[in-house]
Amino acid sequence: MDIYLDANATTPVLAPARAAALHAMQEHYGNPSSIHGTGLRARAIVDRTRELARATLGASTGRMLFVSGATEGIQTAVLSALRAIRERHATASRPPCLLHGATEHKAVPEALRHWNALLGLDLEVLAIPVDRDGRHDLDWLRRQAPRAALVCTMAANNETGVVSDLDGIEAALQGSPALWLVDGVQALGKMALDLASRRIDYACFSGHKLYAPKGIGLLYVREGAPFTPLMAGGGQEGGLRSGTENMAGIAGLGAVLAALDDGHSFRSAATLAGYRDRLATALQDAFPGLVFNAPPALCLPTTLNFSVPGLEARLLLDVFDAAGVRVSGGSACGASRALPSEVLAAMGLPTWRCASAVRLSFGPAEEEAVVEQACERIRACGAALRASGLNGPQPRQALPADGLLRLHEDGANCWLLADAGSGRCVVVDPTTGLADRIAQWVAARGLQVAAVLCTTPETPAARLLRQTLGVPGPVEAGGWPRGAESLALGRRTLLRLALDATRAYALRQDDRPRAIFIGTASPARLGGAVDPDTLLLPARDDADRFATTLRAERSASAGAPATPGVELDPAGLAALLGRFAGAMVVDVRESYEQRLGARPALDDRVQFQAASLSTLADAFPEWLGQAPMRPVVFFCRSGQRSARAARALRRLGHPQAWSLVGGLAQWPAEPALRNG
Ligand code: PLP
Repeated sequence: MDIYLDANATTPVLAPARAAALHAMQEHYGNPSSIHGTGLRARAIVDRTRELARATLGASTGRMLFVSGATEGIQTAVLSALRAIRERHATASRPPCLLHGATEHKAVPEALRHWNALLGLDLEVLAIPVDRDGRHDLDWLRRQAPRAALVCTMAANNETGVVSDLDGIEAALQGSPALWLVDGVQALGKMALDLASRRIDYACFSGHKLYAPKGIGLLYVREGAPFTPLMAGGGQEGGLRSGTENMAGIAGLGAVLAALDDGHSFRSAATLAGYRDRLATALQDAFPGLVFNAPPALCLPTTLNFSVPGLEARLLLDVFDAAGVRVSGGSACGASRALPSEVLAAMGLPTWRCASAVRLSFGPAEEEAVVEQACERIRACGAALRASGLNGPQPRQALPADGLLRLHEDGANCWLLADAGSGRCVVVDPTTGLADRIAQWVAARGLQVAAVLCTTPETPAARLLRQTLGVPGPVEAGGWPRGAESLALGRRTLLRLALDATRAYALRQDDRPRAIFIGTASPARLGGAVDPDTLLLPARDDADRFATTLRAERSASAGAPATPGVELDPAGLAALLGRFAGAMVVDVRESYEQRLGARPALDDRVQFQAASLSTLADAFPEWLGQAPMRPVVFFCRSGQRSARAARALRRLGHPQAWSLVGGLAQWPAEPALRNG
């Protein structure tokens, strides 16, 4: 079962809201503008939901409009305010400014920029700084308030859960002519807002952040606040927001708002804080050194934002996902790594915390049993990482290590070659950024380092590692042990190759050529002495090819067509398995993910193999060396890593390298590849 802890992104639809939405579609499907009975029944749903929203938000006066979501509410509020500001300030000698909190959701600053330009205002837009706790700098706001025409502040932050000091903001705005927009998205159903008792002019909300369907939201407009419709048309919502109402959404939202008061659907603030404390303790137990990025006392009880030293957000997301716990990166996650959080950067947190932040959030209707199970799985995530030599104290027993491993960072490859029999290893082309990881990897496996080699002139990282890892000296250029003809590592032997100014190292296995570490040298420089299919392992790999060969290089320079599509969909997989006996299905997730996740149960037409991206280059010769080559189908969590692996193997000449499109997330029930 999935444990969904990403409620600040969206929530599932509550059962009564689902029922109400369905009922609205099946029975009360009328157009609320129609004056016949079917229309009147729909109108009653609209009216009742609006009344419930007024009661929940403390908005007995002013307008309460149904919109598609917070983004539309923000556009409407900003357009309304800026249009009034344009009229008010047409003759002003000093143009006013527009203010928004530095940690606002993107929808707010982007709307300000958009409408400011579109209305030809060109007003200065300034971010209200926040302190280390994520709270607005009220002194700064007080100083700017006389000049401000519009102030936008969120009630609670979506990344950190930090609750704004709305009373303090209101006090700082005293005497200011500014209109005030409050983004109440994350506050809805979690804290009282009492809109009408404050000077708030506009407040926006999204139903899907509180168990209602997507596509429905609310916009509150204080009585007398300027208003310009964003949508003109049939005159619905009293002419303020045209377009036939989203009846399923309104009915669903109404059911959620009704449930807020039923005394059993939602938990009290104290209960939610108790859940958060249990999750926080589980996180601290699982990940030594973990830090929370916002003080719990100032946050919604449903959000935890944390960073773990040495563990990137991307890695943590992968491990949580493998355990079936859905959390999100502190900020948007790109294809290969999480982008640093701008919210945490605005709070002045160190770069590593901004780049490795993870957000865990649950809804106010969460079940205690789910929290309990989440705690258990979080602890299992910590244990899985420890068992892989990551995350804290050394494992009691040395981890197994044999073969070739690639560590990759910012386009640089470092190669680690280990031999289980002799307990020795060799490091090739370490970088400063990877030095700690290499040292940790070596220590967790209890290996003795025979050499730290460079293909380029000697680097500081290599010198440092040689010292910290106690590599026996003396050494020649590039770190080669002085006087040694070769370096023996069990079945494997390393030899030096002279390549003008740079160095290369040939790896032989069972007395046959296996690979060459070529550093940054062009493969063409190797000349005819090298077999065209020997793997060439580069020190730089910006295109994520893992390895190349002379043959692959020649066919690329002869204008071979780009790698064709490697993605297989369900029908494609079934057809492939039908055509070829003994296809390989390869899990390219890291070992800690494989340890946690359900292993796919494969039917007997396929052979299963685990080969994470870091060990892929070591497996290439096996897949390429079969005659005839058997299909190799890679899979991972999302389909991104497996696509990289399949493209790399295709480029090396394997015609049947494939990637399962969409990854495991899309494949749980496929007969060919089931979660067992
Ligand atoms: N404001 C906040 C604080 C949010 O968290 C979000 C959504 O993540 C939005 C605005 C935008 O809401 P929607 O995408 O539902 O319009």
